[in-house]
Amino acid sequence: MVNFEYFEATSLEGLPQLLGNNRNENVVMAGGTDLLDLLKERILQPKRVINIKKIQELHGIQNGRGLDIGALTILSDIAKHPAIRKSYTVLAQAAGSIANAQLRNMGTIGGNLCQRPRCWYFRGREYVCLKKDGSKCYAAEGINKYHAIFGGSPCFIVHPSDSAPALMALGATLEIYGPNGRRAMPLKDFFQLPEDNLMFENRLAANEIITRIRIPEPEPGTRSLYIKFKEKDSMDFAISSVAAVLQIQGNRVRKADIVLGGVAPIPWRAKAAEAELQGKELSDAVIEKAAAAAVSDAEPLDHNAYKVMLTRNLVKDALLRLRSA
Ligand SMILES: Cc1cc2nc3c(=O)[nH]c(=O)nc-3n(C[C@H](O)[C@H](O)[C@H](O)COP(=O)(O)OP(=O)(O)OC[C@H]3O[C@@H](n4cnc5c(N)ncnc54)[C@H](O)[C@@H]3O)c2cc1C
Repeated sequence: MVNFEYFEATSLEGLPQLLGNNRNENVVMAGGTDLLDLLKERILQPKRVINIKKIQELHGIQNGRGLDIGALTILSDIAKHPAIRKSYTVLAQAAGSIANAQLRNMGTIGGNLCQRPRCWYFRGREYVCLKKDGSKCYAAEGINKYHAIFGGSPCFIVHPSDSAPALMALGATLEIYGPNGRRAMPLKDFFQLPEDNLMFENRLAANEIITRIRIPEPEPGTRSLYIKFKEKDSMDFAISSVAAVLQIQGNRVRKADIVLGGVAPIPWRAKAAEAELQGKELSDAVIEKAAAAAVSDAEPLDHNAYKVMLTRNLVKDALLRLRSA
């Protein structure tokens, strides 16, 4: 670890000035479960680390007409919250699927959305890849078993967050604090593909932080679930995951939100699958068609074609389970 200045912020006031205009020089720390790894491995070498854990207004969950979650809320509180388990099931399941109990007790929801990719070339100090201002993506021709099957080029990272697909499927909006005060940004606009920005996976400015996450109240007839496929049963990142939120009226799907995790540099909305479900009854044939549509534009690399069939089957499984929920 390279020496850095350590600062504990106790309020939002002055934070944008402390963060300044260089995202790599001044970084915020929440639970530190990802950030400290990056510092120890020298992937990040900031001049200043600003611990935000003492900013009280960033803690806590409010449940009224919709859900309002402070960015510092720990994942275990989200996973076990009775109202989230009941009405925002996909989010409780996604939060509960992350890492292990110890990490869920430290890791925050804001940090989960902003964590950096786990690509072994990005995390490996010896590889100066595109994300480190190098000239090539080692995954494109290297060991790309865990890499992107959608939206990859020119860098084939996958977004590792489990909460992000769930929050996106629920239509969440972020409250962001910066030099001009607070602003709202739909989560669907927060992430960016490598083709738009190679260095950073989201559109936060250097002097901004996420303060709260807001989720609209689900419409009547809404059912949701999160399915995560991982290699290790104990704790692992998603090889592929599905966050599915369906609003069912009568026997028909009034609205479908399906977002895939672990398969693209950003949480990947399965638009073609959503379109297949719109206005239809959840028959076996419709479910088969939607699952096939979810992966119809996949572009696998040399070692990850297995993710295409896996993801198709996860979508099918999610829809079958929601049909009988
Ligand atoms: C062994 C292991 C297993 C893991 N398994 C999983 C898993 O299965 N699924 C999964 O999704 N994640 C997993 N993680 C990743 C990580 O632990 C979690 O994502 C955790 O939620 C990160 O939260 P944190 O508060 O510790 O973030 P930190 O480490 O404090 O920060 C992570 C990043 O977010 C930024 N940040 C933090 N808070 C804010 C904010 N409010 N506004 C702006 N930027 C912010 C930091 O600057 C940093 O870049 C795992 C990590 C480890 C070490």
